[in-house]
Amino acid sequence: MVDVRAVHKSFGQSEVLRGVHLQVRAGEVTVVIGPSGSGKSTLLRTINHLEKVDRGHISIDGELLGYRRSGRRLHELKERDILRQRTRIGFVFQNFNLFPHLTALDNVSEAPVSAQGRPRREAVELAARLLDRVGLADRKDSYPRQLSGGQQQRVAIARALALRPKLVLFDEPTSALDPELVDEVLDVIRGLARDGTTMIVVTHEIGLAREIADNVVFLDAGRIVEQGPPDQVLDHPAHERTRSFLSRVL
Ligand code: ATP
Ligand code: MG
Repeated sequence: MVDVRAVHKSFGQSEVLRGVHLQVRAGEVTVVIGPSGSGKSTLLRTINHLEKVDRGHISIDGELLGYRRSGRRLHELKERDILRQRTRIGFVFQNFNLFPHLTALDNVSEAPVSAQGRPRREAVELAARLLDRVGLADRKDSYPRQLSGGQQQRVAIARALALRPKLVLFDEPTSALDPELVDEVLDVIRGLARDGTTMIVVTHEIGLAREIADNVVFLDAGRIVEQGPPDQVLDHPAHERTRSFLSRVL
């Protein structure tokens, strides 16, 4: 479903992604681990077309991101078409990024109306259902500042799901949370995995990787060093660099 081919990305002189290949099948959970600065966020941002790749390409369900093919040539898509592609991918950030002046319900129902043109009543009903699903049915009229970090992150997950995305990207969704709030967010992510949501999750929670990943990807210095099922990559890593990384985070 997601096909990342030979993707290169540099910022100035530094090459942050150095030929990344990654395939994600529908219904699968891919967990990306790796040291700070290895390019994990950049990889997610290219998949959501928040960053343009320098070389290589990314397609989702066979549709090329950011470009249209005509014959042998590629044409860059217009901003409007890029936005349309982006609405099919949910993105959950480390720092929630909720709209501070909107209630939980309005945070979740805003994008389906503004980006997808869905009727407001329908979007509000969907938002209420999603807030219920993340355990926040009773907080739908609260503003972000009235919610704990864990609750805010659960609103952010509901908001990402409101666009009915084909794919949800998570960038360290629990790393800004106090330890006692981590579990409530992990529970929601576990639930999504059980329901067959296609996800790519960047996390330092190795326990989560073990529980939900179909494929664990170890990224180091802009390259995928190894990938495979959790028992292989986490318990029997083939590469020295994976072993030394795991010994530092476990
Ligand atoms: P962390 O675990 O700390 O979040 P990461 O694996 O997500 O790290 P990235 O955020 O992808 O790493 O960054 C990879 C490298 O690219 C870093 O050296 C970073 O400084 C650099 N970088 C990322 N975004 C930009 C940017 N917009 N401009 C310049 N350099 C950038
Ligand atoms: Mg990052």
